[in-house]
Amino acid sequence: MFDTPSWAPELIRRYDQAGPRYTSYPTALQFNPGVGTFDLLHALRESRRAERPLSLYVHLPFCPHICYYCACNKVITKDRSRSAPYLQRLEQEIRLIACHLSPDQRVEQLHLGGGTPTFLNHSELRQLMGTLREHFNLLDDGSGDYSIEIDPREADWSTMGLLRELGFNRISLGVQDLDPDVQRAVNRLQTLDETLAIIEAARTLQYRSINLDLIYGLPRQTPETFARTLNEVLALQPDRLSVFNYAHLPDRFAPQRRINTAELPSPAQKLRMLEETVERLTAAGYRYIGMDHFAMPDDELAIAQEEHTLQRNFQGYTTHGHCDLIGLGVSAISQVGELLCQNDSDLNGYQASLAGLQLATRRGYVCDEDDRLRRAVIQQLICHFALDFADIERRFAVDFPATSPMPGRSCSAWPVTACWRWMPGGFVSCPLGACWCGLCACCSTPIWASRPCPGIRA
Ligand code: SF4
Repeated sequence: MFDTPSWAPELIRRYDQAGPRYTSYPTALQFNPGVGTFDLLHALRESRRAERPLSLYVHLPFCPHICYYCACNKVITKDRSRSAPYLQRLEQEIRLIACHLSPDQRVEQLHLGGGTPTFLNHSELRQLMGTLREHFNLLDDGSGDYSIEIDPREADWSTMGLLRELGFNRISLGVQDLDPDVQRAVNRLQTLDETLAIIEAARTLQYRSINLDLIYGLPRQTPETFARTLNEVLALQPDRLSVFNYAHLPDRFAPQRRINTAELPSPAQKLRMLEETVERLTAAGYRYIGMDHFAMPDDELAIAQEEHTLQRNFQGYTTHGHCDLIGLGVSAISQVGELLCQNDSDLNGYQASLAGLQLATRRGYVCDEDDRLRRAVIQQLICHFALDFADIERRFAVDFPATSPMPGRSCSAWPVTACWRWMPGGFVSCPLGACWCGLCACCSTPIWASRPCPGIRA
């Protein structure tokens, strides 16, 4: 095994090029409008028949303020009455979906994301959780992973108490950067005290896990300012940290047009921030789970990685990959068996469908055997930093080295020996090397090239 990522400058220069990248497989780019409600209903019946456990994702899109870096599906409004009609349609969707599932299917995971879930007032949060409990088998014994994204500017102790009472046991806090100058440049003014108050409430109320989100690559950030943010965040002792790479795509995301491009850190500065983040957090005792995630060694993500059960899906690294994922709300993605599908991303379109008692499924993708093979390879690389040929051959009845992308053989982009190493029956990679592998695990291969690699061009 590699203990630490390789930061060889020659290696980084070599792979400093546009290419496909995967955070999971398949990607949303592969979704097509030929997949719709009928396919979802069919998949739900199959899920019910197999009695697979469930993971629910509920998207709550409203935010009272705009963060300029934002690439989420959200609706910016100060009008708090906007949530009531949305909630009404969401509850309609919950009823329409749940009637195709069995009350015996346990909800092992629940996540409320956004937007800003706590844009909803207390009575709306109670009402939403009441509807979910009425129609799904939510666990009352604390064994489920029930999490919610919190904007510390939009929550207080009473909110945290209510959420705990409603069954949430994990929180994810958006912090991004604590430097006031950076905060001004992205229009997200949030003091350390605001974040600290929510963390203290979560600890007092015995939430099981606290995750903090940071972003590197924001305007006016430097390696020095980001190091200060890291130090302040480490003092808060979160269980998990997500440190995302800011991708500046103003043509795709309108709020990003308000960011002054001249104030963005250079690629070299961003690389230094990433390098120092990995070094600083691993020195502080965190495990580098991969890509953008860090966790304490006793965290379930780190344990799942040790035990080789860690997976990655549209929601990131997960210990619930065996569950069917049911996405509820505008733009939400479901993964039920081999079907992936997404709701309408337009709020009016979503609400209009539900008002007409129709599900709002707009596009999707059905995985075939070839996709399952690709997914397994990418999962191994980005979750376990290794590829076990025998395991792939056993699961997919293929002669793997003969038919797949062999490092250094057919694909010039495969990593060089500084970050991967042959082992009997496969190879292991350092965590960053695994990311490089995830870039190209699907292309330049004899049989896989028959279907062009659909990855995102960075
Ligand atoms: S980053 Fe989060 S809080 Fe900010 S606008 Fe986007 S969804 Fe809302």
